[in-house]
Amino acid sequence: MEERDGFIVSIGCRKCGKCENVCLNGALYRINGFVNVDHQKCDLCMKCVKICPNKALVYME
Ligand code: SF4
Ligand code: SF4
Repeated sequence: MEERDGFIVSIGCRKCGKCENVCLNGALYRINGFVNVDHQKCDLCMKCVKICPNKALVYME
């Protein structure tokens, strides 16, 4: 995998839950139903970014 040094942010989550099962690192968690990303656990695999139907998970450089 190419080197990445950015991070994933959650903007405009609609609480659909589709991303919850794709993260193998347990880096996704909810606050009041909205998905957030634990940057200590996230390895930037981009699975959640690809599966979110609302484009709420975004990779930031
Ligand atoms: S990029 Fe991968 S490791 Fe990071 S939160 Fe999304 S699914 Fe989990
Ligand atoms: S897939 Fe997207 S909209 Fe659905 S819960 Fe995850 S971050 Fe929120």
